[in-house]
Amino acid sequence: MNNKPIYVTQPALPPLDEFIPYLQQIWDNKILTNCGPFHQQFEQALADYLGVKYVCLFANATLALVTALQALRISGEVITTPYSFVATAHSLKWNGIKPVFVDIDAKTCNLDPAAIEAAITPQTTAIMPVHVYGTPCDTEAIRKIAENYNLKVIYDAAHAFGCRYNNQSLCAFGDISVVSFHATKVFNTFEGGAIICQDAKTKAHIDHLKNFGFVDETTVVAAGINGKMSEVNAAFGLLQLKYIDSCIEKRKQISQYYRDNIKFIRGISLPDHQLPFTSNYSYFPVFVEADYALSRDELYEKFREQNVMVRRYFYPLITAFPMYRTAHTHRDDELPNARYISSRVLCLPLHPNLEQEEVEKVMAILSGFSKIQQTQKAL
Ligand SMILES: *Cc1c(COP(=O)(O)O)cnc(C)c1O
Repeated sequence: MNNKPIYVTQPALPPLDEFIPYLQQIWDNKILTNCGPFHQQFEQALADYLGVKYVCLFANATLALVTALQALRISGEVITTPYSFVATAHSLKWNGIKPVFVDIDAKTCNLDPAAIEAAITPQTTAIMPVHVYGTPCDTEAIRKIAENYNLKVIYDAAHAFGCRYNNQSLCAFGDISVVSFHATKVFNTFEGGAIICQDAKTKAHIDHLKNFGFVDETTVVAAGINGKMSEVNAAFGLLQLKYIDSCIEKRKQISQYYRDNIKFIRGISLPDHQLPFTSNYSYFPVFVEADYALSRDELYEKFREQNVMVRRYFYPLITAFPMYRTAHTHRDDELPNARYISSRVLCLPLHPNLEQEEVEKVMAILSGFSKIQQTQKAL
């Protein structure tokens, strides 16, 4: 078998020659950044594509999360999930906010609304949920809790680009949603991200905050940051938008192949939330259950031996990292679902550049051990 490494993800890139005319324009007009023409075009194109009104481009999603919290003047405590990439919680730390981690729903891998409500204190000012793997959070329950307790909702929608739920983009929920265009995400601008907000005033404020707090040449209204997306990234994003639908379609086909074959493998289960939404097929998580022949970590090692770079998203939990251990007063029996899922999950390779024989190799490894198990059982 071909032993070329198979990565969990690989960026989709458009034909290079199609990008040259964009670069030529930048070379001609000499506008490299500071919200130039490509930045403006890309913001508009994204708003049209997502079906939203207010988009603020950023250099990356982490700066966008940090800025979103400042824009809404969030302080005190924010309820969030331990089952995410660390940037979710880091954005709170950067604002001196205390993250309060609560458990997830084992079916969706997203924050459990009942756990959110139980963790609200007088210091709570907001909820920061994550649409993990692009699966929608219980947005309606979260909206009601936020309304009842007068809290803001900032969605980390880093995984959600291209997902649709309840007839709208999954990036359109909450007071603010933040999406990532990092190289590893479904839609990439090398590095990049965006805030989607609900009104023109908030967008204007965010646009000031991402540009050092400048309102005009002589007015600075906040200790803003430099979070601006450059013209090269914005131009690249414009070109990438032409290909995003076909990339998602390719991901869908691979996911379907995995799904059809995994049905027959004992001990490997899939998320089973049955939510009616349009996925972007950003990840393919499987859960390695107790009746599989190997533990999750043994299987992880076996894949790696074969040069298949599966990943454990998300393991360890954010609450396991030293800087968050004390932030969260968890007893050992807290966060049971997050701990369980985190100990079982493995994300299989999924990206538009995968060849059929590579996908087959992944399935062959996964089902190979299951056969060993069956023979052992039969003996
Ligand atoms: C990738 C990711 C981020 C960070 O995005 P960047 O654009 O790399 O800063 C934040 N949250 C989640 C859940 C992510 O997966």
